[in-house]
Formats: sequence, C-alpha cells, structure tokens
Amino acid sequence: MVDTTQAVYEILSRIADPEIPVLTILDLGIVRNVEVKDQEVIVTITSTYTGCPAMDMIATQIRMELAAAGYSSVRIEQSIRPAWTTDWMSEAGKEKLKEYGIAPPDKRFTIPEDGVACPRCGSNNTRLVSEFGSTACKALYQCRDCQEPFDFFKCH
Ligand SMILES: [Zn+2]
Repeated sequence: MVDTTQAVYEILSRIADPEIPVLTILDLGIVRNVEVKDQEVIVTITSTYTGCPAMDMIATQIRMELAAAGYSSVRIEQSIRPAWTTDWMSEAGKEKLKEYGIAPPDKRFTIPEDGVACPRCGSNNTRLVSEFGSTACKALYQCRDCQEPFDFFKCH
C-alpha cells in the first residue's frame, strides 16, 4: 500500500496551515505518520501543546481534502508523545516563515523577553510587546532598530 500512502502525503503537502498560509502542514512537521489499513487511512498528527485551536481546524481540513480525493474512511489520531519540537519543522518551512514576517520558533520553545531576531532586518534588538499576537499561537514583538512589530510563532 505504499502508493496510497504516497498519494495521501501528496494531498497533505497541499494543505496550508490555517494561521500561516505560506506553510503547509508538512512544513510544520505536525504530520507524524500516514498508514493505510483495510481501506482506512490513518493520519497521526501532533500539536505542540494540547488545546491549540488550530489543530482541530487542521484535522477537519485533512478529512475534507482526503474525502474530496475519494478517501471515505479517514481516521485522525492526535498523538501527544513525543512532543512536537521545532526540529520537526523543515528548514524550508522556517525560511518561508521568516519571509512571511514571522520569527521562526525558538528551540527552547519559551517566550523570550527579548533577543528574538527581527524577521525584517535581522536585528536581535527586539522586545516582547504581548504574549498574545494576532492569534493565541503567536506572541507580538517589536524591533527597536527598524521599529517594526512582528509575530513570533510560539505554538501549534
Ligand atoms: Zn527590525
């Protein structure tokens, strides 16, 4: 069933993140596994923390896209362990995030008070404005050098 698995990955590679449309869910690295068992497609996804509202939207989108492609039996499993880390995000994904004007997530996955690199000018002379940016999954920062406010991706 390698072909079906690959076909499913193809479809998943076209699903954009609901909050950051330049990133696909594969870029984010939240798709952990795709399995086909007795005609049923099982997609395992991981969120960075439980209760992230975007995850339900992503699960719904996976279901809809696969249904549209003719996969009627789809199961989405959410795995909590191992926890998502930024290492799972593709390098291409981190670059796209930066081009989009969002600072890529920090390895430590905390919300730093300062020192987050500005996605526009690259300066580390930045400060935390609010732990909540345009959505609950982003924190708002401002660059002291170019004065630009920007989002920092903190969860998914
Ligand atoms: Zn800047």
